[in-house]
Amino acid sequence: MKKLIIILSILCISSANVSASFYAFPDEKKPGDDKKAKAKREDTTKFVVDPVAIGAEEGDESADTTQFFFPSHDLYTSWDTDVAHPYKFNEAFKEDSVVIELTGPTDNCFVMPFRGPLTSLFGWRKYRPHYGTDINLETGDTVVSSFDGMVRVAKPFHGYGNCVIVRHKNGLETVYAHLSKILVQSGDVVAAGSILGLGGNTGRSYGSHLHFEIRYLGQALDTQDFIDYEKGDLKSSTFTLRKADVENKYDLRALHTRYKSDMGMVRGKNGKYYIPKGTTYRVKNGDTLGAIARKSKTTIKSLCIKNHIRPTTTLRIGQRLKI
Ligand SMILES: [Zn+2]
Repeated sequence: MKKLIIILSILCISSANVSASFYAFPDEKKPGDDKKAKAKREDTTKFVVDPVAIGAEEGDESADTTQFFFPSHDLYTSWDTDVAHPYKFNEAFKEDSVVIELTGPTDNCFVMPFRGPLTSLFGWRKYRPHYGTDINLETGDTVVSSFDGMVRVAKPFHGYGNCVIVRHKNGLETVYAHLSKILVQSGDVVAAGSILGLGGNTGRSYGSHLHFEIRYLGQALDTQDFIDYEKGDLKSSTFTLRKADVENKYDLRALHTRYKSDMGMVRGKNGKYYIPKGTTYRVKNGDTLGAIARKSKTTIKSLCIKNHIRPTTTLRIGQRLKI
């Protein structure tokens, strides 16, 4: 059945007169392919396609019938139906910047995955990065693909819950997470507006919502840089991705580490940040003596003795405390 669906998908694509970037060679190795990840991967090389469907003459026996058509394969060189984000952005993205044409002449236009109020934005949360934009919905609301493309991943994950990831011709991948029901499978060709599943509250989610991500070569980008959520449309038909923007606004883990080190904190063996003893700490807005004691693995009493203050002393922003 799956074989048939994939063949049908390919027939569908070839009839849509797509560009050469759709060609794919599934037995190509992607850089950094490790044995563990490889063992988990679905072997898609066994599917054989109709040679006519891939542009060969009728009866041409030399045609490579194991060819596949994957969107943006020239960019990605792999098609993993199991791992959500198997790419290494820093190895794959060599340019200083790239202009991404979001919709092409043969594409349907952009469609909002779901129209609803935003409940959480791209950025650092208390303990972890939040790589998507959360859109409020009711369980059972339909979630649609935002661009034309092909479903790469359609399965449950621990954090994402039921999740669909679509690869697009424009080079982007979009992620739709916490679905109550997945209505597509890997290899399905979708148009902008095609239903992918029903919204829900699965995975690491508190209350029904859609967690929506836009990624390029695995690097999550802020969807608000692409989409005007008020208007429900793209801000522009092109998007320029600069390496500097990745470093300064999209690489949330690196930014968090930099922020902590700017605060004078170092990372402990358990991964938590703390202020090392023997240093001086500058009081920030919102700091309390208790919070500083926690961050520096010491006690309020010890801080009071070292700094000749009382537990009730009001701290000033910019004040220096010996740790
Ligand atoms: Zn989210």
